[in-house]
Amino acid sequence: ISMNAAPLRDADGQIIAGIGTFMDVTNRRKAIQQKDDFISVASHELRTPVTSLQGSLQLLNKLRDRLDAPVVPKLISQANKSMEKMKILIDDLLNATNMTEGHLQLKKSWINLSELIQDCCQDIRSGGSFDIVIVCDEEVKVYADEHKLEQVLVNFISNAAKYAPDSKEIKVCITQEDQIAKVAVIDHGPGIPAAKLPYIFDRYYRVTSDGSQYSGLGLGLYICAQIIYKHGGKIGVESEPGQGSTFWFSIPVGVAD
Ligand code: ADP
Repeated sequence: ISMNAAPLRDADGQIIAGIGTFMDVTNRRKAIQQKDDFISVASHELRTPVTSLQGSLQLLNKLRDRLDAPVVPKLISQANKSMEKMKILIDDLLNATNMTEGHLQLKKSWINLSELIQDCCQDIRSGGSFDIVIVCDEEVKVYADEHKLEQVLVNFISNAAKYAPDSKEIKVCITQEDQIAKVAVIDHGPGIPAAKLPYIFDRYYRVTSDGSQYSGLGLGLYICAQIIYKHGGKIGVESEPGQGSTFWFSIPVGVAD
């Protein structure tokens, strides 16, 4: 608690009362602590790809006169991957700040959901050893921001690939009921404990915060939720520890404006 006190005087300078202000600074201290923790996680996350990029460039520098050496393309590809990782982290940081300040703008057009999902899977699939199965009974079209929906889908699918690496299959189901389109991404990974589920879309929230196994800032799902809310939709997760998780969102199919 922080405390301030001041005397209140009348016209002759006589003290007639005292004014005291008490402020509970527990929340403020907590917020500062959270910010400090976040900065330390974010710096660590950014340092990893920078160190790897530095390593690749140092080796390339040594090979300056032998650019035809077989290892050169591999080093360049490693450097590119590190840059890509940094770009994603920086984009997430920028996105999260912009969204918190209410600067999220949508550029809408008609989108065929299964085509968009196929495009998203293309990139993610090339890196993993699992199958991505898309289940879609009928064509579902939504009037929405293509780039932002892609961001949500890539986040769901790459989280499934990251946190459920032993899941042989990731299923993406597209359905429409009345005027609501729904997409669910289902994995058969470790799942999420029930006690942690209510916080999963919170900013900075990570189920394992010790930073041991998986890297991340805990911003991805927060950004997804802001994007879906802006579309007037809902977002959620169902999960059973040991069985897997289903991350889903639903949005109105919309009308062109
Ligand atoms: P990040 O991946 O950067 O930590 P996210 O906001 O994308 O941030 O995810 C928040 C947390 O939710 C993750 O740290 C992880 O613990 C948990 N999580 C997300 N997707 C899954 C999944 N498919 N299976 C298990 N846990 C998940």
